[in-house]
Amino acid sequence: MILPGSTIGVLGSGQLGRMLALAARPYSYNIHVFSPEANSPTGQVANQEFVAAYDDLDAVREFAQSVDVVTYEFENVPLATAEACAAIVPLRPGAQALRVAQNRLREKRFFADNGLPTAPFAAVHSLADLQAGLAEIGCPAVLKTAVSGYDGKGQVKLDHPDEAEAAWQAVGEVDCILEGWVEFEREVSMVAARDVYGRIAHYGLIENAHHNHILDVSLAPADVASQVVAQAETMMQTVLAALDVAGVLCVEFFLCSDCKLLLNEIAPRPHNSGHLTIEACVTSQFEQQLRTVCGLCVGDTTYLRPAAMANLLGDLWDFQNEDTKEQKTQRKKIERNLRQSAKSADNSPNWTAVLTDPRLKLHLYGKEIARPGRKMGHITALANSVVEAEKIVRGARRRLVIE
Ligand code: AMP
Repeated sequence: MILPGSTIGVLGSGQLGRMLALAARPYSYNIHVFSPEANSPTGQVANQEFVAAYDDLDAVREFAQSVDVVTYEFENVPLATAEACAAIVPLRPGAQALRVAQNRLREKRFFADNGLPTAPFAAVHSLADLQAGLAEIGCPAVLKTAVSGYDGKGQVKLDHPDEAEAAWQAVGEVDCILEGWVEFEREVSMVAARDVYGRIAHYGLIENAHHNHILDVSLAPADVASQVVAQAETMMQTVLAALDVAGVLCVEFFLCSDCKLLLNEIAPRPHNSGHLTIEACVTSQFEQQLRTVCGLCVGDTTYLRPAAMANLLGDLWDFQNEDTKEQKTQRKKIERNLRQSAKSADNSPNWTAVLTDPRLKLHLYGKEIARPGRKMGHITALANSVVEAEKIVRGARRRLVIE
């Protein structure tokens, strides 16, 4: 067991590391963070920020030597970086979880090898592979780059086999996975933690609504039959055991009309859909990460009340509600510029809309630059029902852009 007063090393320095660092404070653990970015969301609240390239393995080793255990907060940390840490201190979850989560093809093969249901898929390394895959799977289908895709980036939907060549070019002619299009009813996720003793605790199913492929609103507990949660729990147990996870992991599912769940992807770390556990549960997903990577037992995941979370994207920093023609033109111009250059986060939304409502909790990630689609923060509300909680967060977010 790694005891309070020890130091946890975090690879990656975004909001997930920040919220882990905040959860570590009450226990009096220290946080050292490693990433190429200075004054990062995690670095701002960590004890020490190591700023170097991920492939600077001397710097990575120096970081690992300064900590008692290493974890990661995003899955695109190079494997060699994680392995260099693992040679010095425990890496939790281990490199295998990272390896599988980093590559969509490997991930889907891992699911298939473990008898877990997914959309039909095919490996694509060439245009000929894509054409053969489309003949086998049919349309609609979605072509995704095997590595570095997130929030819908590196994905092209194909409605007709004729679109193969354009799609292959659009993804940059790199290794891909072709997936059959799933006509799901809803998207749900399960966040779970497994401790070094093999005990598992999960937060049930969380319902997720996406906008432009980015998570928009999460609701918990999801309004699904208990058999669906049981189905997800069994699949989660398989994933956690097969990857021998000590830490937190999220599985994203498609829920189909026949109450069947298909696995979409995994993330071996806390997940955006689990942010509401900070207020809604006895133990948040970040405290759970802290507990499991340090070798403590998993904490109690009981919900105190139903909850809803709405993401705050950089788009909210955009210009709002101008009604004259001149202002509209100005807005379009600014939006265009915004896409090219980033916008200072000083031009903030109307925070009083959130800060004057006693039911709302505001989380901002300390990012200096707002960009459309960039996750800048989130708001959470607890209520007597999920429906009521959702109304509160959606209403407040709308008011953020009204003066
Ligand atoms: P991903 O990055 O794979 O999670 O994809 C982002 C979003 O695209 C998902 O949350 C879904 O809304 C949608 N999507 C991805 N793959 C599929 C699929 N095979 N069928 C239908 N929708 C999909």
